[in-house]
This record gives sequence, structure tokens and C-alpha cells, in this order.
Amino acid sequence: MTWDAKSRRFQVVFLPTSRCNARCSYCFSKHGQTQLSLAQVSLVADNVFAYAASRGAREVGVFWQGGEVMTLSPEFVTDAFKRWEEQAASHKMTAVHHLQTNLLRYDSNWRKVIETCFQGKVSSSFDYPNLHRRSLDEEGYTRRFMRNFRRLKDDGFRCGIIAIPNQKTLELGPQRFLEFYFNKLQTHGVQVNLPFPSPSWTGTYQLPVDYTSPLLKFLTELYTLWRNSYRGLGFDLEPLASMEARLTGDTRRSRLPCLFGRNCADQFVAIGPDLTVAQCDCWVLSDPDFAFGNLKVQSLIEIMRSSEVRQQLLERPARLLEGTCGTCEHLGHCFGGCPVRSRGFYGSPLTADPYCELYKGLYDSILTLRRGEAS
Ligand code: SF4
Ligand code: SF4
Ligand code: SF4
Repeated sequence: MTWDAKSRRFQVVFLPTSRCNARCSYCFSKHGQTQLSLAQVSLVADNVFAYAASRGAREVGVFWQGGEVMTLSPEFVTDAFKRWEEQAASHKMTAVHHLQTNLLRYDSNWRKVIETCFQGKVSSSFDYPNLHRRSLDEEGYTRRFMRNFRRLKDDGFRCGIIAIPNQKTLELGPQRFLEFYFNKLQTHGVQVNLPFPSPSWTGTYQLPVDYTSPLLKFLTELYTLWRNSYRGLGFDLEPLASMEARLTGDTRRSRLPCLFGRNCADQFVAIGPDLTVAQCDCWVLSDPDFAFGNLKVQSLIEIMRSSEVRQQLLERPARLLEGTCGTCEHLGHCFGGCPVRSRGFYGSPLTADPYCELYKGLYDSILTLRRGEAS
């Protein structure tokens, strides 16, 4: 849940199911068959609006994630959406719904749902090249994703894409990477996310922090190429475009992801399919030690007020100031990065993000490029 004081808007990550029809080797979630009932959806929505109202919000952004939402039926998602709408009306608030999906089950049965519930927009993810994403059945992930992505576009919907670079991505280089998203997939942009260091709880995938130098080189070249050849074509490259915007004081254009937020513990909350409340989708299905509480036993207002785990996370920025972040010239842009990445790599969320050197390098590269242009 994000508290945006200006717009009086909260955001919640909503996970109605733990089921997923993929088994990606880098997934941080523990999947299962748990699913909210419609009565539980009403309970979640009631709690969310009550909490949002207690903080003076008028609007709630609801980010549907999983598991995979499309493993539920279109009818269930529509009914669950109606439960949110009923609760919104009874709390005299509005909700704006967003969908994150792997698209593996997208077909014409979902058209009406996307139109009605998600304003004709979805968000998905696809890596180039695809080394880690696997579907559970025989049809290959890449083939099915590409087919369904085309269907989605043919149906007139807009889809944002997240990509996580891997070793092969770095070998192929930025030109091939941008060509794939711009020419082959024909997206309007791509958001490059960094892998989660989660071997402690998935046991399958090691974070390539060792690749900080090659990753920095790749991202710097990617940013340079995008500025020279793709930005003018209306193609977006996040978070680099927003990092640049924030560095240059253009906060209007800056849509940085949560990891560069001031303090996500004051900004986000996620609710899982067993009614667990946790920091975000990265924790709620995967790290029970870091749950804030459960709506079966407490209201969201009580959980957010009394959770010691949340309190610890709230105090993270002050802890980081005692260390290297305290003297970092990029503190006002980075704020110490992402606690779940710290937890995955160092075992504790109360340390600086393991990608620290990468962030510093990126900020320096962006500034150097701009200074070079100005002189
Ligand atoms: S990364 Fe996404 S699509 Fe892949 S297994 Fe995890 S939840 Fe499913
Ligand atoms: S823990 Fe990381 S991924 Fe989760 S909300 Fe915070 S910054 Fe975002
Ligand atoms: S770049 Fe590193 S030292 Fe600077 S604020 Fe971010 S995590 Fe802290």
C-alpha cells in the first residue's frame, strides 16, 4: 500500500492465489493451491479501505498478482472485482485495479475482464533471452508467451513488460536487447529489473552480484544506446529514464520503482491468499518469518500498528544512515535500496542493498553523460 500524500491514494499488492502455471527457476514465491474465497476477498477489501481511510486516503490502487491470477477463472476474477467495488462503495472510496500476469493462459475469455476490471491494461514480464522462465506443461514458455502477447495486442490492450537480465543477456549486448523489445515484441518500453538474491529460500538461483561490473557496463551502454536511438522513437526504458529524471530534478517524469522509494514499509503492504499481511509480494508467499500478521486474527489497522517486523522495516532508513549510506552522495535518490534484496543476500533486511555499487555506478554514469553533453 503506497501512501501518496498529494493524491491521497494508497496501494496494495493483492494475491488472490498462490497457484502458478509456471515454474521459473528464479521465482522467489513458494507456490501452492491456496486461494481466497469471495467472502475472504470482501474481508480483504473491507480491511484495506478501512486502513486507507484511517490514513486519510480517498482512492486505493489494487495490484493483482500471484501466483498467477489467470489460473483463476475469468468469472471468479470478475466476481472478486465486484466485491472490491461493493466495499469501495460502502467506504465511499474508489479503487483502481492493475493486473500483473505471465499471460500463459490469456485467451479471448479474458478480454472482457481486462476491459471491465483493468481498464484495458496489463503488465507482464519476459526476459531476453529466456533462460529461467518455464511453463509447467509441455508447451514452451517462450512460444506461448509470444503467441499470447500478440493476441493481447490484437485485442487492443496495452501491456507493460518487465525484463530481468541474465548472463546471456549481457553476452548478447544492449543492441540485441533493445531490438528484441522494440522490433520483435513491439512493446512501448521495457522495465529492467535486477534479479532477486533468493537462494536462501528457493535454493535454485544465485544472484549474479558477482556480475556487478558486467551488469553496470551493460546497463550503462543500454542507457546510452536508448538515449541516442530509441528515446526519440517514444520507447521507454525504466528505471533508467526515471533515474535520469530524478537526478535532473524532473520529478514529474520520474516513476521510480519501489526499491528507490523513501521507505517502502511506510508505502506498501501485500495481502496473500491465506490472508497473510507482509511488506510486498516478495515476502508474502515466501518468507513467513517476515509476515506482519494475518487478517484471520487481527484487522489490518491493528496489524499495521502493532507489527514488530514492520516497525523494524520502518526503522531501516535510520539504521542505514549509521553506515555507508549516511555519507553517500546518492542517498537522496536511492535511500538504501530494497530490503528484500538485502535479506536475500545478507540474511537481514536492515543492511544496504547488495546492488549498492551498481546503483552508484549508474548514477555516476548518468551524471557523466549529461555533463559531457552540457560542456
Ligand atoms: S516468476 Fe512469476 S510466472 Fe514465474 S513461477 Fe514465479 S510467479 Fe510464476
Ligand atoms: S521489499 Fe523491495 S521489492 Fe518489496 S516493496 Fe520494498 S523495495 Fe519494493
Ligand atoms: S548507493 Fe549504496 S550507499 Fe548510496 S544510498 Fe544506495 S545503497 Fe546506500
